[in-house]
Amino acid sequence: MKTKSIKIGNQIIGSGFPIAIQTMWKSPLTKDIQPILLELKELNEIGADIVRFAVPDMDDAVILSDISKKSLIPLVADIHFDYKIALKCIEGGVHKIRINPGNIGSSWKVEEVIRAAIDMATPIRVGVNGGSLPSSLRNRTDLPEAMVEAAEMELNIFEKLNFKDVVFSLKSSDIDSTVMANQIFSKKYSYPLHLGVTEAGPLIPGIVKSSIALNKLIIAGIGDTIRVSLSDTMQNEVFAAREILKSSGKESQGVNIVSCPRCGRASFNTHEFLLSIEADLQKIKKNVSIAVMGCIVNGPGEARHADLGITGSGDNIVIFKKGEIVGKGDSSQAAAMFTKELEKI
Ligand code: SF4
Repeated sequence: MKTKSIKIGNQIIGSGFPIAIQTMWKSPLTKDIQPILLELKELNEIGADIVRFAVPDMDDAVILSDISKKSLIPLVADIHFDYKIALKCIEGGVHKIRINPGNIGSSWKVEEVIRAAIDMATPIRVGVNGGSLPSSLRNRTDLPEAMVEAAEMELNIFEKLNFKDVVFSLKSSDIDSTVMANQIFSKKYSYPLHLGVTEAGPLIPGIVKSSIALNKLIIAGIGDTIRVSLSDTMQNEVFAAREILKSSGKESQGVNIVSCPRCGRASFNTHEFLLSIEADLQKIKKNVSIAVMGCIVNGPGEARHADLGITGSGDNIVIFKKGEIVGKGDSSQAAAMFTKELEKI
């Protein structure tokens, strides 16, 4: 679905632009912002396009405004309850504001936020959450429709003030409700959609739920930005989002990792090796296929399509390209040999 385009700092979402990957900062803000800026840069290097921060009070609004002025990537202030914190963030130049219709309060408060956003050309996301709908909708049994109505109640306020730079999200912890709510909304409106399953859970269940829901929507052409919400690291949220986009045919850049699960024949510790190089692989923007195989018996043959592969045992580690062995060494040299060949590619 072709949506309106919206500028968030140096990033454009909607209107067929690449689907942007988001994550959310997982610890309290600190006055020492240098480590935060460094981590934001590292998150950007592995694929994060936008990062959201919880802003529970005015002190945090000041800190986030300061970070926003120096950050390489756009930042979003996540506001609950107190519209004045949103005003402070907008005034401070934070790139985008997220409000929740279930807890921001009366419409005049939302109007105040919109007027400030118009003055500063700040986009706003209306983040509808199936678990915290406005009180008038809380007892509804048709959750997807109720989520859309929550979005529409807020949309009326935005349209009254002719504010167009608005993104919507309709998230639930339930896969079907999330999918249905986004399908209904995207049929009626062309505002960009931020996709996600809320409170999806720990690493594996969270990735499975998010993959099922987001893939259904993405392959139907719905969604302009995504966040995989995990009880895990920001880095893993970004890795998971990238893999969902790749597997849904929306991102062709980057490394495709083929690795064997290991069996009784395994002589090379694929799990350990992958963990040691995974963060570096995620920084590669080129379209490269990598194979990490557990044994020489089947490894190079089964992974003959790979641009670069590794397997072996102890003193006999082999590096191969398209099935042909191009280097040998012992296990202490494995990572260095592999990285050297990777750089050549
Ligand atoms: S490549 Fe070797 S170790 Fe890996 S699953 Fe196949 S036979 Fe087992």
